[in-house]
Amino acid sequence: MMTTASVRQPHAAFDVFGQKIEELRQEGLYREFIPCGHLVDEPGSTSHQGRKVQVWCTNDYLGMSRHPDLIKSQCESTTVHGTGNGGSRNIAGTSTTHVELEDRLAVWHGKERALIFSSGYVANFETLSTLLAAVPDMVVFSDALNHRSLIEGIVRSGCEKVVFPHNDVAALDAALAQYAADRPKLIVFESVYSMDGDRSPLSSILDLAERHNALTYLDETHAIGIMGPTGAGLSEELGDHRADFVQGVFGKALGTVGGYVAGPDAPLDYVRSHAPGFIFTTALPQASMDATLRGLELVQDGNDLRRDLLDNARYLKAALRAEGIDFIDAESHLVPVMVPGSERVRAVSRRLFQEFGIYVQPINFPSVPRGGERFRVTAPPYRTREQMDYFVAALKQCLAQD
Ligand SMILES: *Cc1c(COP(=O)(O)O)cnc(C)c1O
Repeated sequence: MMTTASVRQPHAAFDVFGQKIEELRQEGLYREFIPCGHLVDEPGSTSHQGRKVQVWCTNDYLGMSRHPDLIKSQCESTTVHGTGNGGSRNIAGTSTTHVELEDRLAVWHGKERALIFSSGYVANFETLSTLLAAVPDMVVFSDALNHRSLIEGIVRSGCEKVVFPHNDVAALDAALAQYAADRPKLIVFESVYSMDGDRSPLSSILDLAERHNALTYLDETHAIGIMGPTGAGLSEELGDHRADFVQGVFGKALGTVGGYVAGPDAPLDYVRSHAPGFIFTTALPQASMDATLRGLELVQDGNDLRRDLLDNARYLKAALRAEGIDFIDAESHLVPVMVPGSERVRAVSRRLFQEFGIYVQPINFPSVPRGGERFRVTAPPYRTREQMDYFVAALKQCLAQD
């Protein structure tokens, strides 16, 4: 027999949350989630209340989450190993696939070691907070547009932090010069910034790091699987592997879930033994690791997918330009379409959804500055030109109405 507990009257102390949520609504910043049932048979589609909707803001850049090989790996592995590992990495949760995947990731990035975490967020937060706190007198130089997971990890470590203007090599140079040569330093930055789709001046930053005797931590999240001859990221595309630590995720181009950091052996071995968010949490299921391993093999051999993704970005940008729709012409697969105003971006999104069956999530403050509201559009290899034409025509119509 099933019993249900009755809901208690909320405590008066919780009234403050109601007020805060009301403030969010007033500002047009209240978040609405759209429940999706993604469909393998119709890539890029999702079922929503019995209706099919095209998703135009996916991070599954290569459509890997529906690849038959990954699905097969995950299903077969589940049949053999079950749905969970039943423990943390330390307590029977380290599967043979975790070990193999970590070895392969290390080789892929040309590093001594790699460590897998529950997500990319956890990888950044745990690695930075743990490492930085362990080095006395450490000072961190952090790009102004760094991802929240990097920022929170740095803040948590309690070390001194200098934020340099986004991608500004001269400003970073000047900031580094303010500190004594023997002071331990770490530069934290990304290879591709998600909201503008722009790249960092990777080699210039690595040159600076050498000159100022600084260490480097590079978040390659949006370049993993996408850039470089085997998809190992911007470092690989440029043939510049000098970053000390490289972070990547499985939840985007690899189509599964999880994150990792690759780098020198001793610091990551230290993280393995000290990072609470690595130790005190259940390991990812072996089946998910097996699917990820297959995804890794496919992206390493995935030049056709990468070419098709970039072709689509080019086609989409040309179509947007032809219709006079404002977008950022970035040097990546990401296509940020500018729709300033938190109310307006939401209204356009709603109209696209209701009238055209197109789902693009509005991006608002604090992910972007106020006035920089946008859609962050992606067109994976499975998108057809007809679909892209339909998307642009629908967008044009909705922008004209709101
Ligand atoms: C998405 C993202 C992460 C976090 O990865 P998850 O696996 O989604 O937690 C980290 N860094 C950057 C730059 C990201 O965009």
